Amino acid sequence: MEVRLGNVVARCPHCKGTEFVHMDPGTPFNMLSDLICPHCELATTYCELILQISDRAMAEARAKLHGGDKL
Ligand SMILES: [Zn+2]
Repeated sequence: MEVRLGNVVARCPHCKGTEFVHMDPGTPFNMLSDLICPHCELATTYCELILQISDRAMAEARAKLHGGDKL
């Protein structure tokens, strides 16, 4: 599965992959669900990926504010 918020997709911090697998499909999926990157087997959580996305969205918004005249 991809973890996305708006048009920003979460990336594995290790291999930059965008696919994640729910580690425990028997349990309901929620913010604290454990996910694993199928490429490098890095373990993370849905919550961590959402935080990563919001950090990146903030950084991009800031870059746009300050770098608008360079486009
Ligand atoms: Zn990975």
